[in-house]
Formats: sequence, structure tokens, C-alpha cells
Amino acid sequence: MYCYHHPDRQAVGQCIECSQAVCPECKVIFDGKIYCNSCIQKKVAGTVGPASVSGQTGNTSGLGSGAAVPAGLGEFNWGGLLLTWIWGIGNNVWWSFLVFVPYLGWMVMPWVLAFKGTEWAWQSRRWESVEHFKKVQHTWSVWGWALSITLAVLLLLLMIGGALLLVWGISQTDSRWY
Ligand SMILES: [Zn+2]
Ligand SMILES: [Zn+2]
Repeated sequence: MYCYHHPDRQAVGQCIECSQAVCPECKVIFDGKIYCNSCIQKKVAGTVGPASVSGQTGNTSGLGSGAAVPAGLGEFNWGGLLLTWIWGIGNNVWWSFLVFVPYLGWMVMPWVLAFKGTEWAWQSRRWESVEHFKKVQHTWSVWGWALSITLAVLLLLLMIGGALLLVWGISQTDSRWY
């Protein structure tokens, strides 16, 4: 028997709701029973709160704030630190908008996202797999760095330009005076 979503993978069980065959990645154990990704989503959305979501294994992404976070997702989230709310939109992490709170939000929120972002992104959005999640988060960090470096270079050029203009201005006044 092969997985319903991954015809090349051997199935390890069957969803008790829709009887689809599931591979280790598609399998979610909930209350000791096997579910597929879509049925657990419906179940969690419809009947149970995040608090009762415990003892789950497999792909638990998108199951809400109580969902188990697999090991090895990568801890520090550069995308969250550098792109804050933009990263938040892409990852369904609405806490990231606290970055707009003056002073405290500006200073604290990027760091909260850097350390908690990975967990929140995993819990609040559905990801195909741990690998998919890591790949997307890596892309975010690349963009975060690219944007930060571009901005830093622009700022530097602006400062050099400003300094040059100032020097030029002073030399102009000087020549008039002498
Ligand atoms: Zn199912
Ligand atoms: Zn599968």
C-alpha cells in the first residue's frame, strides 16, 4: 500500500476518518488514533481547542499554538528578525505586527520573532514537511539579509554623499570669503 499523497512512498497506516493511506510524513497521531493531514485539520478546527492537542506526532504544522514542534526546525529565525511583519504575513504570524508598537515593539519584537518565530510559523501555517519548512525559512533569511545589506549600503552612500556635499558647500563659502 502506498501513501495517497505520495504514490512513491510506502504507507504506514490509514486515516480513521477517510481511510486514506498515509506515509510517515502525512500521518498525524491524535488521541492515539491515526489521521491524515486534512482530517486532523478539520478535526482541530471544528471540535477541539489547542489545549487538548497533545501527544501528536508527524506533521503537526498549522495545528495552532498547542501543536508540538518537531526538533531540528532550526532555532534562530533570521527572517523574523530582519523582516518582522513582512515575514509575519508570509508565515501567518500575526504577533509580528506588534513590531509597530512604538519603542517597545520596535526594540523587542524583532528579537521575539528571532527566537519564537520558528515555533509560531510552524504552528500557524500548514507546511508540507519539515524540509519544506526549513527551505522556506532559509529563503526568508536570505531575503532578510539581502534587504538589510541593501539598506545599509544605501544609507552609507547617502551619508558619504551628504558629507561630500557638506565639504563642497564649505569650500564654496570659503572661496567667497577669501
Ligand atoms: Zn483523513
Ligand atoms: Zn504522504
